Amino acid sequence: MIIEPKIRGFICTTAHPVGCATNVQRQIDHVVIKGAIPSPRNRVLVLGCSTGYGLASRIVTTFGSDADTVGVSFERAPTPDKTASAGWYNNRAFEYRAKAAGRVAVTIEGDAFSDAIKAEAIEAIRSHLGQVDLVVYSVASPVRTDPKDGVSYRSAIKPYGAPVTSKTLNTGTGEVSEISVEPASEEEAAATVKVMGGEDWELWIAALSDAGVLADGFQSLNYTYLGSELTWPIYHKGTLGKAKADLDRAAAAIRAKHGEHAAHVVALKAVVTQASSAIPVVPLYGTLLIKVEDEMGLGEGPIQQIDRLFRDKLQGELHLDDAGRIRVDDWELSDTMQKELARRWAMLDTDNLAELADLPKYRQEFLKLFGFGLGGVDYGADVDPQVVPAK
Ligand code: NAD
Repeated sequence: MIIEPKIRGFICTTAHPVGCATNVQRQIDHVVIKGAIPSPRNRVLVLGCSTGYGLASRIVTTFGSDADTVGVSFERAPTPDKTASAGWYNNRAFEYRAKAAGRVAVTIEGDAFSDAIKAEAIEAIRSHLGQVDLVVYSVASPVRTDPKDGVSYRSAIKPYGAPVTSKTLNTGTGEVSEISVEPASEEEAAATVKVMGGEDWELWIAALSDAGVLADGFQSLNYTYLGSELTWPIYHKGTLGKAKADLDRAAAAIRAKHGEHAAHVVALKAVVTQASSAIPVVPLYGTLLIKVEDEMGLGEGPIQQIDRLFRDKLQGELHLDDAGRIRVDDWELSDTMQKELARRWAMLDTDNLAELADLPKYRQEFLKLFGFGLGGVDYGADVDPQVVPAK
């Protein structure tokens, strides 16, 4: 079939196998060209390994530091007439390339929140890696079923305490308008913490520790977004911010049990991913950020951020902020960048969007997540969605 993007709201329901493989290869090239990253931690478990920051983490550790990896993600396999999810193609492309480079790459597709998938991952670690030195937690999900009682929780991305009125962007039409979002109820806020907070991270570390598959001196990382004051009302001070604050609690709890290097929250910059495009207000901020950071020569996507995390921030003595976090959002949150973003944000409307922000590049980045719009890919070719490209 000829595979084209089918966009529904903030997701694309199709993915291109050759485009996804090309996207994975470009990220690998980025790391390989920059050269080796010395690391004593090269047996790695990546939770949320198939897209965004998790995929970038798997690529950087494998191709920068010769790591062997077990990855876990929740993805959809293809059928004869329906494409797989992008992450499923990314996983296959990654495995092929990692194995060709002589690395172990085992991927488990299933619900990371469940006991069954934790047990499967532990078995895979035992058989293929022995133990792990590094655990990267990069799961982003709207729902979680608590394995203890089977109750399902759904996150609500809303302000907390008071309603918020903000500018927002329809990325389909390019229209800038105002939205008012009502605050979450206490129940919705608690559910969001249950889904995106630190509880599952703690459960993973406890399960891995009980099974004896955590190496002495292991490290684990969990990714957060603190972000610009422009997004605080909807993010940092909203329900997601509450969930992210719970990561700091979980990190402290893990450190108390396993030592000071056992858990770090890493603050990363805003990038276009499937998770971030679903958050109100964030896409408008993203179009502005892309334009300003490119003008300043400081543009970064997930692979550049995670490469900088492992290549610079995790080398030698760690520099932590007051809350014990590692900061890779330093360029985004620099005074110069934030002043310019705030200046433009105040003026932004539908008519001047093209001048102040970069919606075409945002759209391009969004489509790339699903393997579309990559140079060198023949999108007119007849492709079998069930055949994974060998290269
Ligand atoms: P993403 O949507 O690209 O990736 C999410 C990953 O989670 C995928 O691999 C998906 O398969 C996996 N996943 C979802 N539900 C799962 C489940 N039940 N079981 C197993 N795997 C599951 O998201 P992302 O933007 O890369 O986010 C990863 C982390 O980085 C999140 O904690 C997010 O808050 C954080 N972060 C994101 C940004 C941003 O701008 N995108 C900025 C800073 C921090």
